Amino acid sequence: MEKLTQRSKQVVNKEMTFSERIYLPAIFKGLAITLSHLFKKKVSLNYPEVKRDYSAVYRGQHVLKRDDEGRERCTACGLCAVACPAEAITMEAAERSKEDLMNYREEKYAATYEINMLRCIFCGLCEEACPKQAIFLTDRIVQPEDNRGSFIYGKDILVETRDSRVDITKRQVWTLNEEAKS
Ligand code: SF4
Ligand code: SF4
Repeated sequence: MEKLTQRSKQVVNKEMTFSERIYLPAIFKGLAITLSHLFKKKVSLNYPEVKRDYSAVYRGQHVLKRDDEGRERCTACGLCAVACPAEAITMEAAERSKEDLMNYREEKYAATYEINMLRCIFCGLCEEACPKQAIFLTDRIVQPEDNRGSFIYGKDILVETRDSRVDITKRQVWTLNEEAKS
């Protein structure tokens, strides 16, 4: 019969030799492979003490951006939630009052905005769907937690503060530049 692959092996039901029965050659062969790895370059790091460099376009924890005047860019349009394949984003919209003029750029804003980091697959579609350049993925790592509830990130975690902006210039910088021109 024609072989299906070149890797197929004919099984032979022959008696095992003495050395095969005591496994010693196989054990020494395994130890030699283990020893050879001691002298090879390590591929692992002592995380979290040592962290590797991430790509500039690494897709990690999201940030909700503010504009140059410190107002939240998000207008709670919901497009990111619709685009999200993991249904990880939820929000509630509210209308901006006169007192809120300094806080929100548009007449409508997100009173609540939540991302379930356990659902998120970091695909970046929310970022692409956003017409306001309000949401970006960053090179920050989502921190481990010991309970599921802590992985629901609200605005307190997602929105950047006025004093410490999250640098996303290496990600989709052209979108911000285009907007600045318009
Ligand atoms: S990165 Fe993808 S999965 Fe995560 S919130 Fe955005 S659209 Fe949803
Ligand atoms: S982050 Fe962008 S897409 Fe999502 S609700 Fe806000 S403005 Fe709309």
